[in-house]
Amino acid sequence: MDNNYAVFKVNIYDEFACIESKCKQNCCRAGWDIIWSKNECEKIYKSKALKKSFHQMEKHFVKCNGTQKYMKLKNTIEDACPFLSEQNLCRIQLTTNYNYLSQTCKVYPRLLMEYKDYFEFSISSGCEKVVEMLLENREALGFTQSNNNLAEIRNSYGRSGKDFPSNIYKDRPILNYWIDIKYLVIEILSDRSYSIEERLFITGMAMELLRDIENEGNVEIIPQFVDMFLSENSCGKIKQQLNSIEINKENRVIHCLSYMTLIFYQEKSCKSILEKGQKNIGVDVGKVEEVNQVKNFTISTDYDKAAYATCEKLYLDFIADKEYFLENVLILNFTNMCMPFCDTSKDIFDNYYTFIICFCIFKFALTTNTDENFSIEELIRITVLSSRSMAHNSKIVPLLDEFRLQFKDINLDNMANLLL
Ligand code: SF4
Repeated sequence: MDNNYAVFKVNIYDEFACIESKCKQNCCRAGWDIIWSKNECEKIYKSKALKKSFHQMEKHFVKCNGTQKYMKLKNTIEDACPFLSEQNLCRIQLTTNYNYLSQTCKVYPRLLMEYKDYFEFSISSGCEKVVEMLLENREALGFTQSNNNLAEIRNSYGRSGKDFPSNIYKDRPILNYWIDIKYLVIEILSDRSYSIEERLFITGMAMELLRDIENEGNVEIIPQFVDMFLSENSCGKIKQQLNSIEINKENRVIHCLSYMTLIFYQEKSCKSILEKGQKNIGVDVGKVEEVNQVKNFTISTDYDKAAYATCEKLYLDFIADKEYFLENVLILNFTNMCMPFCDTSKDIFDNYYTFIICFCIFKFALTTNTDENFSIEELIRITVLSSRSMAHNSKIVPLLDEFRLQFKDINLDNMANLLL
């Protein structure tokens, strides 16, 4: 058999096993639209065992309008799957077996991305067990490589979660160098001689240069550029540039607060994080106006600076020996968000700026929620829910796009002011 395709697999992929009823952030309570294909629906409608238990299976589904998708499950008013038992177990699986589940239910939190001539197996940081694994894994997160044929890939996963139209590689030749770009980013993000924020900023410097390379039509030099950038980084040249940057931290808290409010206000599951964060830094929650209308969105610029400084100190103490965890989350989310091409109509730097805002929201949520009682369990909860609302949510990018322009231009100086 031909082993035609390179397959990259995140190195914690095979270790994953769902913790089922022990999971506190059960994904079956996430309020997601779980899509079922026609074949999957027909299979469960026909099952005698399911008919006996649920009488009318059909009433738990609603037709998907105007899409290729067939049916989606009707969640309960508590945003849970209608088939979830009180013990947090799947009643379809309990009544029949795993083969009766939809593909989405079978594979989550595993993800498969399909590119021009390679596949990527990853795993979502919106899953509690995955986040626990990221905390246990003190080594840099990496990818293993193998070569497989298409049948092997499909058998191990089913359909792919995300793919790109084949003409996109012609329209944007830089996409043919995506593996080189990912290699560069993972190398920078796992360089522990820098802080997390410095690594993100250095990646931003590389993204800006790559954007220029693309604009000049020189994408074939990307492999040499990657080698050159990494060698300049390792000999300290980039560190020198970093030290000469002037930072203006003014309004950083207001920007992060506004971004967090905009995103978490729309996500029921994140509201408790938002409210606790606002309360801890003395923000008047009542002053948050209509958030769904991005254009009219305003937020109080008053916050208690001393209270924020206390949260920040507690957060920095808490996270000091866990930077490897942030690194793991970032590497995973960079991959899962298809960065820096999540919106292929935008340039590489522009997309990366969105990624930075998502990181700033996550970090700000952690900072403002840290008090004397902050625990590992809270760290896991905030990471899972933040990832679900940003890295696992296709609506987030257009929303942030519309919003961020009201604040600041998208450039390296403003990225430095947000991060460093
Ligand atoms: S979030 Fe992860 S561990 Fe929890 S129920 Fe879902 S797949 Fe299992």
